[in-house]
Amino acid sequence: MAAPMAAPVQSSLSPFAARLLGSERAQAAIALRTLLSESSLPSPLWPRFVDERPGLLSAIWVDGDWEPPLGQLFVALCIAHGQLLVDGLAALKLATAAPQVGFATSSVTALGELQRLCDKTAIRVAATSPSFPSDPARELAKDAGAVWVVDPLTVAQVGALIARRPPLALCSVVGAVQQPQVLDLAVEGVTSPAWTPRELVRRCLGSTSAAWVALCGGALTGQPWGADEPLPSDVSHLLILPADHELLTRRRLLRDPTLRITNACLGCELCSAYCPESLSPHREMQALALHKPLSQHLSSACSGCGACSVMCPAGLLPAALFVDPRLVRPLLLPQRHHPTPPPSSVRIPIELALRRLGLSDFGPD
Ligand code: SF4
Ligand code: SF4
Repeated sequence: MAAPMAAPVQSSLSPFAARLLGSERAQAAIALRTLLSESSLPSPLWPRFVDERPGLLSAIWVDGDWEPPLGQLFVALCIAHGQLLVDGLAALKLATAAPQVGFATSSVTALGELQRLCDKTAIRVAATSPSFPSDPARELAKDAGAVWVVDPLTVAQVGALIARRPPLALCSVVGAVQQPQVLDLAVEGVTSPAWTPRELVRRCLGSTSAAWVALCGGALTGQPWGADEPLPSDVSHLLILPADHELLTRRRLLRDPTLRITNACLGCELCSAYCPESLSPHREMQALALHKPLSQHLSSACSGCGACSVMCPAGLLPAALFVDPRLVRPLLLPQRHHPTPPPSSVRIPIELALRRLGLSDFGPD
């Protein structure tokens, strides 16, 4: 019988990485890559430079502050699924031959849990400043090379995969609810598409507001979602707001974005000054007002972080427009990484971000 052909994924481990790992660990890395590529996780899981320029990767940082404002998912992951995080990150270190890996967060609770879990491992745990959007690559990566910043939910899903457990289905429900919390939708025994905002609000002991609206995905780029409309299967963040909240008023004004931009964009360029990717959202806003499509550069480089929306003095929500699927060039949000860190490093203190979005009342005590 003819020998089976080698799976194409085997060649994806570069000779550089194989040499670095040694033959035994290289075999384990190849097996792991095969498992990842055959799973439902996004493929490729890491940025292209990891494979295209082997040796460039200096570190993987798990960004514990990657969530939209008020999100509680990372702390819940650390408390209830910390071992999946640790195992997932160890697996990614092996699969990519990253010299250094670690968790970065400004949460004191998460830091405590992680330090306990990572004691006696090669995984670093680092405190970062509570700024928006977070930027562990700039704060922590002092070495030459490129950093891959990855979100914790992806890392925990890798951990679940190698532990042969079903994927996690966690959703942070925050804002105007009696008991903000992270719900485990899988454990509750109903498949995710059956969940509606009304049911999740009920599980948080109801809303603090008689009339409320759900934003699926969070304050800055989330979509208003009908109370009885089934949520997407990968929902991880639901923000409940009183129906008269200023953020919803700003969104209503965006229903006719062209009109809103034409009438209200001040051209102040504050959005561009705070863009962590050094993009020019003010130019895009002007282009959209003239019915021009988004530029290719913005489409590929915008992380959807929402800093431009936080800072806009005219109350516009540029980020919500840039991720709007109805625009001419819808975005596929890339996972953030910084082969060449952008020159701008202005960050918004998280308290200021919450204040500008009218969300201070919903923060932790
Ligand atoms: S959402 Fe995009 S354009 Fe706006 S600040 Fe973030 S990266 Fe820049
Ligand atoms: S911050 Fe707002 S008003 Fe100023 S240029 Fe950007 S979109 Fe226009």
